[in-house]
Order: sequence, then C-alpha cells, then structure tokens
Amino acid sequence: MVESTPTKFRAIIVGAGPVGLYLAHALCRANIDYVVLEQHDTVLRYQGAGVLLYPQTLRLLDQIGLYEKAEKDFIINHTHTDLLTGNGRVIKSTPLWSILAERHAYPMAGLSRGQLIALLYENLPEKETRVKAGAAVLDVKVHEKGVKVHLKDGRTEEGSILIGVDGVYSKTRQIMQQLAQTPPDTWPMTATYQGLYGCFHSCHGFEPGTFYQSRGSGIVSQIMVGADRGHFAILRPIPPTAGLKRYTTEDRDRLAEELSNISVGPGVRFQDMWELTVKETAAMVNQEEGYCDKWYHERVVLAGDAVHKATSVTGLGVNTGINSAAVLANELYRTLKSEPDPGTGAIEDAFARYQQIRDNEASRLHAVGRKQIRGVTWETWADWFFDRFVNPWIGVDRVVEIIGKLIKRGQILEYVPFKDRKVQVPWNHSPTAQVIRDPLS
Ligand SMILES: Cc1cc2nc3c(=O)[nH]c(=O)nc-3n(C[C@H](O)[C@H](O)[C@H](O)COP(=O)(O)OP(=O)(O)OC[C@H]3O[C@@H](n4cnc5c(N)ncnc54)[C@H](O)[C@@H]3O)c2cc1C
Repeated sequence: MVESTPTKFRAIIVGAGPVGLYLAHALCRANIDYVVLEQHDTVLRYQGAGVLLYPQTLRLLDQIGLYEKAEKDFIINHTHTDLLTGNGRVIKSTPLWSILAERHAYPMAGLSRGQLIALLYENLPEKETRVKAGAAVLDVKVHEKGVKVHLKDGRTEEGSILIGVDGVYSKTRQIMQQLAQTPPDTWPMTATYQGLYGCFHSCHGFEPGTFYQSRGSGIVSQIMVGADRGHFAILRPIPPTAGLKRYTTEDRDRLAEELSNISVGPGVRFQDMWELTVKETAAMVNQEEGYCDKWYHERVVLAGDAVHKATSVTGLGVNTGINSAAVLANELYRTLKSEPDPGTGAIEDAFARYQQIRDNEASRLHAVGRKQIRGVTWETWADWFFDRFVNPWIGVDRVVEIIGKLIKRGQILEYVPFKDRKVQVPWNHSPTAQVIRDPLS
C-alpha cells in the first residue's frame, strides 16, 4: 500500500519545550511547513526552574525579534558572581558577568523556563493551528516518502521528517534507536543528582544582580537574585539510576527540611529562603546526564535534552539546545533550497551535517558538565582541594576568556537578515545580510 504523504515538505516537531518552540520559529522564518505536538493539554503549564540565558542565545532570540520582549521578563541582568563557603562566607566575588555583557553586547540573563516558553509560544505566528496540545506521540512509522506519527488518542499526523525535542526521556529517541538498531549509547541518560528548585521573594542578605554559588559537604546551591525575586537550584549526588522518577510534595518538603541549615547566601540559610519560596514553583527532581551517540536515522532527528543532557550546574541545557536547533534549521533550509522535495538520502545528509557541526561542542559541554558537578560537590579529595583552595584564585580574566570562547562560537540563522549589535569580541558566525548597529541608538 502506498502511504499518503503531504504534498509539500512538512516537519513534525515532538515537544513544545524551549528548544522545540525555538525550532518552530526557525522553521517558520525559513518558510518550512511544520506542526508541533505536545503531550500535555496546555503548553503554558507552570513557571519551572530558573534558567540562565547566555549572550549567544539572547542574540538568537534577538534575530527572531524576541530579545526586547524577553528583557522585560528577565529577573536579573547579572553583574556579579559570588562564591561562598559552607558557612556562608564569601571567598570570591567577581564582576564576571558585567565583563561578559560588555564584551558580547548581551547580558547573562535569568528568567524562568516557563517565561521562556511563554515568550516563544505567545509570539509564534499561527500558534493556534501550528501547536497541537494533548498530542502525545506513541509510535512512528518511517517510509520512503515520509513519516506517520501515531498519537495516544488514536489520531495520526503525517509529515516528511520527525524532529524529537521531547526531553531527556524522549520517546522519539527510543523509537529512533529501535528503528536503527543502534548499540547502547556510551553515556545513556542516567539520573546522578537530585535536588530542589523554586522561585522566592527576594530576602535580606541577597544583593540583586548577583549569582550566588555555595558548596559544602557534597551539596551545591546556585541562586539568581533579582530586584524582587530569585530562583534557586540545589543539587546533591544520588546512586545512578535510569528511568523517570517523580517526587511528591511530601518528598519535597522532607528534603527542604533536611537542607534547612545549609548556607545559601551571606548570612542566609536555606530555611530563610524556603519560607519566602512560592511553593507552587518549587519541585524536587532528579537531574540526569547523558549523551546520544547518533542523533538521526533516516527521516528522524533529535535535538535538545533528547540528545545531550547535563545537570543544571553549568546552566547550559537550553543554551546548547537552542544553538543546536539553529544549526538544524540552517541545514534544512539549505537542503530544501536546492531540492524542494528531498529524498531520504538528502535528508540524512543534512542531519549528518547538523550532528557533525554540533557534536564537538555539545560533547565537550557534556563532559565539562560532568566534571563540573562532580568538582563542586567534592566527589573526591582532589575535587575538594581544587574547589576550595585553587578555584578562588583563578583570575576573572581567565574565566572570561574560557566562557568568551563558547559565547563567540554562538550560532545564527544564516537565512534571517539581522543587524548585529556592536561587540568587542566578533562572532564566529554571521548571517549573510548584516549591518552593524549601535546598541545605544
Ligand atoms: C533546576 C534546573 C535548572 C536549570 N537551569 C538551566 C539554566 O540555567 N540554563 C539552561 O540552559 N538550562 C537549564 N536547565 C535545563 C533546561 O531546563 C533544559 O535543558 C531544557 O528545558 C531542555 O529543553 P527541551 O526543549 O530540549 O526539553 P524539555 O524542556 O524537556 O521539553 C520537552 C517537551 O516535550 C514534551 N514531550 C515529551 N514526550 C512527549 C511525547 N511523547 N509526545 C509529545 N510531547 C512530548 C514534554 O511534555 C515537554 O513539553 C535547568 C534544568 C533544571 C531542572
């Protein structure tokens, strides 16, 4: 039987998380037909964890016209980072993030995952018809001309390609790996840390614009503080475990009780912050790590947490995912420009180029993330020694140089004309049509 296929190229995006919704904007700008399928009944569900957006990601949002809108949601344009010991003493304070903002023309911005999703969703053209909520993907059939997706409620959706941006426990990845019969990944998705996150009304002891990190006895806390509210994430190691684990409100409150006496800011204990925490925003979660060896098979491709996942300690999950999504959109745009109805071979070639371009950076960030979380939770004596006695002496210039290299490699949608801001450090990638504009004008 010949499968029915859409008459023109159509992408099916699975997952309306931040990476899936950014990809929707990118495909829309490329004039590529698409639909987004989201398992939950609504896209705008909750505020979620606080996320840090790096300048290269803000530039991508600026390119699609969302930066100025995002700015009003930032809880902070970070200036300082403060490192604290377990007893709440500040041992290192640097203007790291003001320097980065000056050099790269965008701040290190903090906002919630929910605000980022709302920004991307609310501003997506034709969102009512393009994004289908209550559409959980159960199965996928790939044929010579396209893909057929089976949803939990019995409906089906047809397209030319399937893009799985359905998170760390990606159904698309499972299906793709079965179809491709791939060997187990070198770094399968595994929960290695657990913790709490939430949003609080800012309290005495915290300085707005500062990012606080404190460590001690195997626990790390990271706190973004704005003028009137802040976000926290606290992590500690657990025995590695596979599979999704859900915690109840009682589990969350028990953990909060256990953490009550740890120092999270100068003179601030966890319990002080917890009292001011908006409990609806707080959750206990496992945090996974993992890396997928092959990101595509035939007409199916993965992006975001579905392929690369580190704990929140480096604050790079969304940033890496959105930058990868830009590359995927570029490769699709280029392929469709030369061949409006590409065969499976041409599509696989585009996916292969996408992985090739991003593999190096994404795998390095995954490795850095693994090292970082183990270092700051003092997995070994050497980690403790380095973190406690060497790290405080590493100069801010050195850190600016390391993070600056990552920022300047930021991706851009090559087919969307964009007037870049003036920067001290030039970007590696620019769209073809570009005019420099003055940030003050
Ligand atoms: C405490 C904490 C702090 C963090 N801080 C940062 C930070 O500072 N900076 C940063 O960059 N990142 C941070 N992250 C990581 C960041 O939240 C993730 O990297 C990001 O959400 C991944 O986006 P995504 O779109 O790939 O996947 P997700 O956000 O997981 O979205 C996947 C979507 O797919 C949907 N879905 C899943 N299965 C199906 C299915 N079968 N059918 C249809 N839909 C489906 C889900 O419902 C969901 O909406 C943090 C995470 C945590 C927990």
